[in-house]
Order: sequence, then C-alpha cells, then structure tokens
Amino acid sequence: MPQFNRNLWAPWRMEYIRSLAEEQQGCFLCRYWSEPQNDAKNHLIWRADRCFAVLNRFPYTSGHALVATAAHKAGMDELTEDELTEFIRMTRDVVTLLTEAICPGGFNIGINLGRCAGAGLPDHLHTHVVPRWDGDTNFMAVIGDARVIPQSMDALYEHLREAAKRAGLPPVAAGGESGAV
Ligand SMILES: [Zn+2]
Repeated sequence: MPQFNRNLWAPWRMEYIRSLAEEQQGCFLCRYWSEPQNDAKNHLIWRADRCFAVLNRFPYTSGHALVATAAHKAGMDELTEDELTEFIRMTRDVVTLLTEAICPGGFNIGINLGRCAGAGLPDHLHTHVVPRWDGDTNFMAVIGDARVIPQSMDALYEHLREAAKRAGLPPVAAGGESGAV
C-alpha cells in the first residue's frame, strides 16, 4: 500500500471535466477574461496585461489557483516573450500571495498539456498552483471520495483580495473596487 498512499486522488474532478463538456458556453477562461464585471463571482484574483489569476472552481486544496493567459492559446510555444514572462511572473506572485494569505507548507505547480495529461481545458494554457499542507491528503479523499475544504470560496476570495491590496497588486473590477485591468 505505500505506493497507493503516494497518489493524489481526485475523483471529484470528474464533475469539473463533465461540466466543461456540458457547459456549451465555450472556453470559461476566455469568458472570465471578457467579463471583468463578474470578477468577484468568478473568483478572479487579479488581472495584468496578458494574464490573469483565478481560484479554481473545483480545488484540490483550499487556495488552488489557476494562472491563465488572456489569449486563447494551447501551448507554451505559442506565447510571445511578453506573455511568457508575465505568465511566469504571475505564477510567482500567486505563490507569494497565497503564502502571505493562507500560509501553506508548500506548493505543487504544474501545467497539464493535452487532455490525456489531465487537462480539463486543453486549448487554453493555464498553470495550477496548489497550496499544500502536511496531512491535506488523507483518508477522506482516498476512501470517502470527499475532501475537507475548511473555507468557503467566497470567504477565501475576499481574504486573497485583501492580501493582494496589501501587496500592491492591481485591483479587479468587481466588489466596488475601482479600475479594472
Ligand atoms: Zn480560452
């Protein structure tokens, strides 16, 4: 059983993958980028010129965020140098922000390229930033097909936005904050 215990099981992700197939609304990342008035509803953390960061709707752990390009591009080799630079910098800044806001013990950071590699949305490049704590993968996830996410998405979003303000990150449009993009 030791090998079994090393795996991060996430059967709840099927809901997410199915929802993408059923959404019939095109690419949700493009939709998020195009509707700054809904940033709070979409849990979009902040926007830059070419990329944005958003909380994952179906998180592995509390604070699981995505960094995505504004442009609908599938591969890293399709990015301009400016896009690539901002993509990496924003990934770094998301780690800094989450560290400041919720004090994880570590992170998993990764990109799933292609559906067979686990990408739920293979045509729009995004990287996963997954905060980790000792003991966050336990019997509840492995046996019970359930996770314990101790903080609601809305409460976490507000907490991250406060941390982003303290860090001087640019505001998003929603929730009475001024100055989109
Ligand atoms: Zn897209």
